[in-house]
Amino acid sequence: MHTLIADVDDTVCPSTQPIGKDMAKEIARLVDAGCSFAFISGSSFKQISDQLTPSLGVPHHLLPVSGAQYVKVDYEGGKPIFKEQYKLEFSAEERKEILGALEALIAAYDIKPLTSREDQLQDRGGQITLSILGRSAPDDKKRAADPDGKKRREWLDFLRKRMGDKYSMRIGGTTSIDITPQGIDKAYGIRRFLEANSLKPSQALFFGDKLGPDGNDFPATKVVDCIEVKDPSHLLEILQRFKSGPKA
Ligand SMILES: [Mg+2]
Repeated sequence: MHTLIADVDDTVCPSTQPIGKDMAKEIARLVDAGCSFAFISGSSFKQISDQLTPSLGVPHHLLPVSGAQYVKVDYEGGKPIFKEQYKLEFSAEERKEILGALEALIAAYDIKPLTSREDQLQDRGGQITLSILGRSAPDDKKRAADPDGKKRREWLDFLRKRMGDKYSMRIGGTTSIDITPQGIDKAYGIRRFLEANSLKPSQALFFGDKLGPDGNDFPATKVVDCIEVKDPSHLLEILQRFKSGPKA
């Protein structure tokens, strides 16, 4: 059984777009021939499953948030069944520290939500997000809240003064600050996925479009053999050359 692991944006799909028909067909052919296919991305579960799952129609593995989460996808009667295998979560202590720092920030800068406090400060287990006006505040108001990210950069300094660089904190979306555990990258995600399936790194092959030292696929090179692709049409050409999967 060969295991193929691929980056999503600009490798399997055009950036943030659904997978192309030819690519979906080619991946389905390889899965039917005995390969297993995993997709790893920094994006959320919803984002990558929307891009891939409706078109694939064959079992596959989704590794969103750089593999901090693992969801197995099977189909029953043509309908996808999602089975979450794991999801990295903050400990109760870490959660308390982060929420405490965000509450102090909200008080210090008098950040008022247009919706509710729960909508402004979302605890998603492995990611805690502050949305300035609330996640479901009107779009036009959100776009005007901090268009150049200046406020949020100042707020990140405030948070770093309290918590150092214990967590990964960054500006995300139109109005949010995302906080996730430190040290999560594609090397972590691939290692954990292989372990969960009792696979050796030598049994897997990775495809990505950004394998250079500054690229977000670079960490994969520390774990498995990698092939750099220029874009999805280049990957498609390579996959079409595999009869029933590459030689491990
Ligand atoms: Mg990419």
